[in-house]
Amino acid sequence: MENKIKTIKTIGVLTSGGDAPGMNAAVRAVVRTALFNNINVKGIYKGFAGLLGSNMRNLFLRDVSGILGQGGTFLYSSRCPEFNSKEGVQRAKTACQKAGIDGLVVCGGDGSFRGARDLSEAGMPCIAIPCTIDNDIACTDYCIGYDTAVNTVVENIDRLRDTSESHDRCSVVEVMGRQCGDIALHAAINCGAVSVIMPEIPFDIERAVIAKMKTTLGTGKSHFIVIVAEGVTDKRNENGLKMDAFEFAKHIEEKTGVESRATIFGHIQRGGKPSARDRIVAAEMGHYAVELLLHGKGNRVVVRRNSKTSDLDIVKALEMTRNVNMKLVKVANEFSS
Ligand code: ADP
Repeated sequence: MENKIKTIKTIGVLTSGGDAPGMNAAVRAVVRTALFNNINVKGIYKGFAGLLGSNMRNLFLRDVSGILGQGGTFLYSSRCPEFNSKEGVQRAKTACQKAGIDGLVVCGGDGSFRGARDLSEAGMPCIAIPCTIDNDIACTDYCIGYDTAVNTVVENIDRLRDTSESHDRCSVVEVMGRQCGDIALHAAINCGAVSVIMPEIPFDIERAVIAKMKTTLGTGKSHFIVIVAEGVTDKRNENGLKMDAFEFAKHIEEKTGVESRATIFGHIQRGGKPSARDRIVAAEMGHYAVELLLHGKGNRVVVRRNSKTSDLDIVKALEMTRNVNMKLVKVANEFSS
């Protein structure tokens, strides 16, 4: 699907869905690139909800000063169920037209991408920029916010390790990622976890955790980190029961005799100053998004693939499926056995 745009005078930019560190850096990149090219920018507040309510204002150079290193999103974000209907999308298109918006940049996760796709199909050219700590968007190797989140998780697991080592304990840590185990897997390798349980890979707690802990207890290890992805605790196990991090810890303690504590990091993973990596990817992707619109291209997703920034058709991008990096899974397993 391609909407050829003739001339671009004004673009809109919004952040939608779960916030991610680096969203501000991406918006700043969009604004600065647009203004450099003499294009007006309208900042739309609170995602698609702001579009429906025409909650927007012109952004100038100084409006994006001082936000580069800030987490969250100064444009605010929201989830907007109204946007899931044809009427909602049509209303959003009308709101764009009324505001004189010729193209829209949407920063968000795959839900927001579906919104951008629907709006593109309704005739408003959209460019989507992947921003989510979950790193769960199939069409891109990397999403803005992921690096910061992994660093936050690693820093906090290092703290937990200090205390679990002092008391010969096992720390069971639940990390975010929805149905994607990337944060869990990368944190496991970064922190030397004895076991990582991810939603993409079937697991047997006796083999994946208990047997491993017993073996390593035999080699003299006395403290443990077990990482569980939230997508695992969301699911029911083979007995039809949901197992959360606390139940994992209880089971581990019963079976191994090692005192076990559960910690759920929750939303601390979403906040904080974006890392240098997230800022640079945000700068590149924001710049790229505006250049696409300038070159008359709409209905695209900006992606990182094979260490390069490029773009894909938004419909095709959303049809892609993710693969787990099985080599890294092997690394995690072999290092901890
Ligand atoms: P994320 O973008 O972080 O994945 P969500 O999945 O909550 O977050 O999606 C954010 C918003 O995108 C939703 O509240 C809704 O407004 C819009 N959206 C999600 N899915 C669709 C869809 N299938 N069609 C239209 N809009 C959608």
